[in-house]
Amino acid sequence: MINRDALYIDGEWIKPATGEVIEVDEAATEEIIGTVPAGDAADAERAILAARRAFDGWSETPINERADVVQALADGLRANEAKLAKIMAQEVGSPIAIAERVQVGLAASVFETMAEAAREMPAEERIGNSMVIRAAAGVVGAITPWNYPLYQLAAKVGPALAAGCTVIVKPSSVAPLATFVLADLVHELGLPSGVFNLVSGRGALVGELLSSHKEIDMVSITGSTGAGVRVSQAAAPTVKKVALELGGKSAFLLAPGADLDEAIPNAVRGSFVNNGQTCSATTRLIVPNAIIDEVEQRVAAMVNAFVIGNPLDPSVTLGPVASAGQFTTVKNYIDIGMTEGTLIAGGPGAVDGLDRGYFVKPTVFSRLSPKARVVQEEIFGPVLVIVGYDTLEEGIAIANDSEFGLSGAVFAADIPEAVRIAKRLRTGQVAINGGRFNAKAPFGGYKTSGIGRELGHHGLMEYFELQSLQFPSADELGNFGTTV
Ligand code: NAD
Repeated sequence: MINRDALYIDGEWIKPATGEVIEVDEAATEEIIGTVPAGDAADAERAILAARRAFDGWSETPINERADVVQALADGLRANEAKLAKIMAQEVGSPIAIAERVQVGLAASVFETMAEAAREMPAEERIGNSMVIRAAAGVVGAITPWNYPLYQLAAKVGPALAAGCTVIVKPSSVAPLATFVLADLVHELGLPSGVFNLVSGRGALVGELLSSHKEIDMVSITGSTGAGVRVSQAAAPTVKKVALELGGKSAFLLAPGADLDEAIPNAVRGSFVNNGQTCSATTRLIVPNAIIDEVEQRVAAMVNAFVIGNPLDPSVTLGPVASAGQFTTVKNYIDIGMTEGTLIAGGPGAVDGLDRGYFVKPTVFSRLSPKARVVQEEIFGPVLVIVGYDTLEEGIAIANDSEFGLSGAVFAADIPEAVRIAKRLRTGQVAINGGRFNAKAPFGGYKTSGIGRELGHHGLMEYFELQSLQFPSADELGNFGTTV
């Protein structure tokens, strides 16, 4: 059992205002593996005021020193890889190799690349008689989901600290334990009091307060579109910066002439990574009707070959979904899919031999209308849908027929053709013929998938305000050097 009974506020581990706790269960066994405090409004208020007090000092700390701290967090995560990976395999259900490589490894890379981006940040910009400088955005509320708990946190805390902002983080109640390990690292590093604060608690209470509080200058949430809308509404009266990384239902567009030996494994991996609990998962496979039979056979063969079981077992390639709530949601969608399309793999019913844990059969539906609910709605579990098209124009229209616009993939006969298609997709990222994720490239959504971008230089820039200093004349500007 991991029992965390304190919140990290103002440089100290302190007892929460009430004794209420959040229980964390293990996805594979349903057993309680830890507890964290259910922070309330008084705790959040205390953390917000501490972050406000710390802001002037931290924002005036030289950017290279701040970058050193962000780099040290990357190093700290790597040094704790085994412990953190085990936690996230248990609380999220990620197969242990994914927990190591993505849950911990990618989180560390994000801190590291953010330190680099801060060091390489261009100095002030000169426009006529103006010098445009960047000032830290202020006190940041960072609200994170459960699917990649540490990576999502790194994508906010990394740039915030590097930019000179102070932060209050609120992890998801489903998977909060890794965030406490990050707070331990912050404490060991001896960051100035109030620069980083952790208040676990319910979204509707702590999350809403971080969104609505007048002393918060920017709120950044990664989560469902519904929660993002609530955050925007709560933030509106105080006119703060709002960054939204929300849901997705990304398309994998298989163009005529694509090499199926390469494309199909790529499509299956892209949909089922982390048991399908990935915001950018390509869960809509859009294929020419002329080859849909062959695609279905190849996809089914791969999906039926997943090794399902406890994610701590290194031979397992597909773990459970993270929570009882998610289990019910995904099962309901599988029932809906049974009425909307043709079952190609998986389906309702329990996974053989696994009578405990939130295990769902990896499932594929085909022959669906582009308007079917399982095609339009985010399921966030191991469910792939296949939709056929006759002409490429129609395929592109189906890919774009979504309220979301987070990510996507195109596999075509050659790269120039894939790029031509990708440029017509209304979505924040597109993988070209199997192109890999890049932790320095901007990530974020069009449409209801969000506002703003995370990662790399562009992600860092979101945590600044721009200030224009107007000089009496352009000549006088020449005497001033770097200001950041
Ligand atoms: P969620 O919306 O239930 O919760 C996300 C976070 O928001 C949690 O910390 C939660 O406590 C908090 N929250 C909930 N209601 C709130 C409110 N009214 N005010 C403030 N905060 C509130 O999402 P989840 O189930 O944890 O995560 C899955 C969702 O996240 C999926 O929709 C997925 O697509 C999305 N997601 C998006 C990205 C991205 O980068 N775009 C990445 C990962 C996950």
